[in-house]
Amino acid sequence: MNFEELNLAPAIVKAVHELGYETPTAIQAQAIPVVLDGHDMLGGAQTGTGKTAAFVLPMLQRLSAAEAPKNKFGGKGIRALVLTPTRELAAQVEESVRTYGKYLELTSTVVFGGVGMNPQITKVKKGVDILVATPGRLLDLLQQGVLDLGQVQILVLDEADRMLDMGFIHDVKKVLAVVPKDKQSLLFSATFSDEIRDLADTLLKNPQSIQV
Ligand code: AMP
Repeated sequence: MNFEELNLAPAIVKAVHELGYETPTAIQAQAIPVVLDGHDMLGGAQTGTGKTAAFVLPMLQRLSAAEAPKNKFGGKGIRALVLTPTRELAAQVEESVRTYGKYLELTSTVVFGGVGMNPQITKVKKGVDILVATPGRLLDLLQQGVLDLGQVQILVLDEADRMLDMGFIHDVKKVLAVVPKDKQSLLFSATFSDEIRDLADTLLKNPQSIQV
């Protein structure tokens, strides 16, 4: 199995080859076709398995193949939203989006707490294709009225178990309430408690399950 066989666009394959990735990891081989097909997905995977690329690569491909809508401020509509439990992970995921997407025309940014809100406000109003965020700051921005999530087509909850352990469930649910119902949702978690299963049941429609 190689990246070309996963039907990824040459621009994406070129970027991963430059990083020295030759073969997809187990989670990538399983998840990429599912995500490219537009299915919802429940992914059981620890960090270090290559799970970031497992959702970022097909997400980039789907977004680059479609038109970019406008947000209500006249900027670019956010089409993909990735929620992570920590700022470190948010920053890493956004860095991966930039690296894997370096030959595509898509834009991204990251928002998290503990730093000034104003530069983030300017960026989200102007709009990006992909927003990576921690739940608390995302909610702050929503409550400020500066964030339009009405164009979201792909939602990813990364490390959902850690997100719940850190007490973000209410914030996550508030975010879910303002994104369109009709979207593709992906949930990754290393462990599966009843609470995670409930969240998955609420969010995912006919999901394909993948466990590595
Ligand atoms: P992750 O589980 O997403 O945090 O990725 C763990 C590490 O594996 C990261 O340093 C990636 O750059 C690397 N990685 C991801 N996919 C591959 C691959 N197919 N081949 C080699 N390294 C990879």
